[in-house]
Parts: sequence; structure tokens; C-alpha cells
Amino acid sequence: MKIVADLHLHSRFSRATSKNMRIPEMVRMAKLKGIGLLGTADFTHPGWLDELNRHLVEAGPGIYEYDGIKFILTTEVSSIYTRKGALRRIHNVIFAPSFDAVEKISKFLGRFGSLTSDGRPTLGLDSETMLEGVLSLSPESFIVPAHIWTPWFGLLGSKSGFDSLQECFGKYSDEIFAAETGLSSDPPMNWRLSALDRITLISNSDAHSPARMGREANIFDIEPSFFELKDALKQKDPKRMLGTIEFFPQEGKYHYDGHRNCNVRLSPRESIEGKNICPRCGRPLTLGVLHRVEELADRPEGYHPANAIPYYSIIPLAELIGEAKGLGRDTAGVGHVYERVCQELGGEFNVLLWADIEEIAKMAGREIAEGIARMRKGQVKVDEGYDGVFGTVSVFGKEEQAEKKEEEDKGHEQLSLF
Ligand SMILES: [Zn+2]
Ligand SMILES: [Zn+2]
Repeated sequence: MKIVADLHLHSRFSRATSKNMRIPEMVRMAKLKGIGLLGTADFTHPGWLDELNRHLVEAGPGIYEYDGIKFILTTEVSSIYTRKGALRRIHNVIFAPSFDAVEKISKFLGRFGSLTSDGRPTLGLDSETMLEGVLSLSPESFIVPAHIWTPWFGLLGSKSGFDSLQECFGKYSDEIFAAETGLSSDPPMNWRLSALDRITLISNSDAHSPARMGREANIFDIEPSFFELKDALKQKDPKRMLGTIEFFPQEGKYHYDGHRNCNVRLSPRESIEGKNICPRCGRPLTLGVLHRVEELADRPEGYHPANAIPYYSIIPLAELIGEAKGLGRDTAGVGHVYERVCQELGGEFNVLLWADIEEIAKMAGREIAEGIARMRKGQVKVDEGYDGVFGTVSVFGKEEQAEKKEEEDKGHEQLSLF
């Protein structure tokens, strides 16, 4: 059965997370979006574990359920430790097949730091030691390095990461078969490293509030089973791992290189040509995620590995509606349309990826349908983020948007005449 899965998110017990990240609210949002399988998140937190125990019922091997939405036991761990003389900060997601396994794993992890102060615990625990410990206690469990390119907390991050999986997980690195690309990278960026060819790239929202759930996700064709999910990832099986749903990484604050104060934005190639020095002020540039990829890549841009899993780049539906209507993504006006369209047309992902454009037009209007059609064809206008400045991705672009605003203002004027 085809199922959209968001496997890494956070509960209300994680820091800076919405109090609405509770099972019933998460399930309501999953239905609206068309997500069938969620990671529980935060299973190391006793308070959250208690809620999981109360809400979830078993619905298959290693799979649980609440009101029709499936869950798999996951937690993210932030590890801070010194290795080879450098400080490392690495986030990993642990997947466990049962509450029994969760208990054993949490007992082990609790030796390295507090599990109660944060749903995503920060532990003084080397990633390799953690993997060894988890597998010895629960051989069916597995670990997926999280958002591998983020500068501070990613396995391949420029600030406190490593240069390879091998370096991080040592003699256990063969036990790593999947990695999360995170919001700051998409599959083509990862395809430039031959070392990642054997790895299944997955994508998740890392959401801290219901509205952000599923902003990245995975499409599986599996029976609801922990073991089948694990095997699909392990085999990198294109019949069962159908693809990932991706954010445009250009939107990230550190995609390109540059200097915000100098108004200088450069592609990695441009900065390398200029020896990573700002052409305005002469100081070293702030280097972004794409630069880090360029550094580690052993293949040119545009390389497509033979066994690559497909991916679909999306703009969140609320953003598309907002753009089409000239309103902010989080406004009530957008919210109403969003809920109605999702309910009528089988969820956000169905609307964004599969629903008939004419159907969408009938339901939501010509503009929104046109926006979705353009997004599907990759006809988007991109301004890359750099040095702390968010990038923008839009289907209509600034000029078209200005025209639209003018038309709408005229409409309001006319209305107010009456
Ligand atoms: Zn993280
Ligand atoms: Zn500068």
C-alpha cells in the first residue's frame, strides 16, 4: 500500500516545540496532509512515552496506530563529543521495533545525560558508541543520521561534522544504510558524493508544530510493518521506496555563500574563483551548505547515479495559496482555503503531486491550480538564501505578484465604491 511517511518530528516535550504537538493534533494534521505514517518522536522522554503508551495501539509488526494513522517508534539524539581532536555535534534518529526495545535503549542512553529535560536529549555520547550500544541491546533497531548537511549538527556539516560516514561510525558504518538529507539539501546535491551511493536518502519535516509536518516526507509502497520499512531502506528498493518529497534547498538561510551586510551573494564556484574572499569588503565569506557539498563532492553538478530514488520538489500548499492570493502563509484567509482544498481533494500531498489540475481549478480557482501546475513542472523562480538571509522560491515571481496585488487592490477599490 502506498503510504506517505514523515519519520522525524518532535513532540511538545522537545524544546521550542508547539504545545499542540500531541497525538490527537498530530493525527488531525496528518489526515489533512495525507500522511499515513508518522515517527512518534521523542521516545526517550518519560512524559511523552507515557502519552504514547496511552494513545497508541499495536497495528502490525512494530507499527502502532491512533485513529487510523500509523506510528513507528523514533527519537532524535543530539550527541556532543570530541573525536580526533575536534568537537563534534551530531544528530541521529533511532528507530525501534517495540516499546520493549525503547525501554532498553532509553536505559542505556540515560547513562550519558538527562532524558527528562528535552524530548531530544543532548548526550555526551559518541555516535559510534551509541550505534554499538543500541544494536547490542536491540539488533532490529537502526540509526539514521539526521539532516546530514546542517553546519552545526549534521554528520557532514562544515562546523562540527565529519568528512564521511566512515569517520563518524567507524567499524559500525556498514550498519548505516539511510541518511536524512534535511531541509538544506536535496537528492541531486547528495548524488555528487559517490560515498552516498549505497545509502538510501530519506526526507522528513523535523517539524516543531503541526503546520510544518510533512514539509518533507517519504513515499513508500509497503505493508505497515517496521521490518518491511527497514528492509525497503536497507535494500534501497525502488519498488518499495518510491521517492522523497523535498523542500527547495535554495530557501535555506545558508544555501549560497556571501555577506549579508555587503549585499554579496555568490555560488560556491564564484567564491572559490575569488578565493572565498568578499569582493566588496575583502573579508572571508560566510560559506553555505552548497559550498560544503562542493568541497566533499567527487562528481560534477548534475550527476545522476543509476540507482537513485526519485524525488519531488514541492512548495507547501499554504504558501502556494498565499502567493496566489497575495496573503501570508499563516493567515486565516489562507487557512480556510487550505483546509477545504485538502479535505475535498484527498490531502495536501495528493493536491500537490497527483490530483488533476482541472479538478483543483474547479475546487480552488484557476490561480492556485496554475501555481501547482508550474511547481510540478519545476517552473519556479528561485532566489538563493545566503549568510543568514532566507531564500525565496515562488511560482509567480515578484513582478507577477506585484501585478496581482494591483489587480486585487483595484478589486477592493471597486468593492468599496459600492
Ligand atoms: Zn536535529
Ligand atoms: Zn563583505
